[in-house]
Amino acid sequence: MSNDQPAILGGRAVFEETIPLTRPTTVGFGAISRELEALLSSGRLTNGRYVASLERLAADYLEVDEAVAVSCCTSGLMLVLRALDLEGEVILPSFTFAATAHAVVWNGLEPVFVDCDPATYAIDPGCVEAAITPETAAIVATYIFGNPPDMTALEEIARNRDVRLIFDAAHAFGSYYGDRHAGTFGDAEVFSLSPTKPLVAGEGGLVTLRSPELAWRLRIGRDYANPGDYDCQFIGMNARMPEISALLAVKNIERIEDTIRRREEIASRYCELLRFVPGVSFQYVPEYCRSTYKDFSLFIHPLEFGIDRDLLGLALAEERISTRRYFYPPVHLQTAYARWRPTGEDRLPMTMYVAKNVLSIPLYTDMQESEVEGICRAINRIQSNAREISELSNAKALSSPADRGVLGRMAPARGR
Ligand SMILES: *Cc1c(COP(=O)(O)O)cnc(C)c1O
Repeated sequence: MSNDQPAILGGRAVFEETIPLTRPTTVGFGAISRELEALLSSGRLTNGRYVASLERLAADYLEVDEAVAVSCCTSGLMLVLRALDLEGEVILPSFTFAATAHAVVWNGLEPVFVDCDPATYAIDPGCVEAAITPETAAIVATYIFGNPPDMTALEEIARNRDVRLIFDAAHAFGSYYGDRHAGTFGDAEVFSLSPTKPLVAGEGGLVTLRSPELAWRLRIGRDYANPGDYDCQFIGMNARMPEISALLAVKNIERIEDTIRRREEIASRYCELLRFVPGVSFQYVPEYCRSTYKDFSLFIHPLEFGIDRDLLGLALAEERISTRRYFYPPVHLQTAYARWRPTGEDRLPMTMYVAKNVLSIPLYTDMQESEVEGICRAINRIQSNAREISELSNAKALSSPADRGVLGRMAPARGR
């Protein structure tokens, strides 16, 4: 049998052990053991020096006035919307992670989903503009996989139409737009420090902003909105970051530039090795931007590639390569959002086009060159044999309609 036969057609899998989609970028136990021991015996496990020091380091690095540490990006987004005391509608993308929209609905605000740009995958400013009504209170935009949305256009819309502008910057610690860091735009930006994101605390989030008044509301908001005298100022919550998480993030933030640089290298290696594969294209990151490549995704044009994104995911699984359909289904099609589904003419065609055709492939900071090459070799040989794979898949689907399951096997994304 030919060496270049894909595993799905009976060839030998490229990898012996499964390549994960991602791995946390973090220092090891040795780097924190001394501080951890001191921290545990100090008796101060929350609201202590490491949270304060993480906030200072993050604000310095991002060149922003205020950074407020919280328990996660979701709680940070919820608190920002709450602290701004908004009412009415919030315009947001559907091509994003569900937490962006959850934060809106938890606050009793109405989500208004708009379409994305098919090249950058970010919210389309033209669609934002068209969706503004007298009820619009805010726009929430996401950095998709670390790629900044069109900041210039969004800031202009927010200014002209007098609405708040908030960013789900979960993927974007270390991203740039022009010469400005992610974290310096809009009324507030919210980062995630969970294990799959570029800066890792274990679980955690960071809200960055310029207004000292809003920063104060967030600081009390993460503490039930109790300013210290038990006279709560609004309906807050417990969204404090534990000291242990802050300690880990303090250590990891020291290496953030190396982390992003390495991720950029891996991404450009992927582009180099996959550029000539028929039917593969990449997310467009404008040259004046920097992406963290929280994820690296391929856009699969099924006619040119020979099989679709789902079948490619299945064929890669046979090669022991993990993939994920970020973000599918898009938020407006998820069960929880049935009430807020856009109707009529505009059914978010670009969102559907992107959500149905992109596939995230493995990218983690300590990835080896041999892993990148092996993944690209697998994609190449799958594409070269796409017609045969497609025939096999059709035959299987016909012979066992019950387990239409060739695709079923890669069905909904499992948790991390
Ligand atoms: C991970 C993620 C979140 C949620 O972050 P948590 O810290 O887990 O709450 C929100 N938005 C996007 C786009 C994400 O990828």
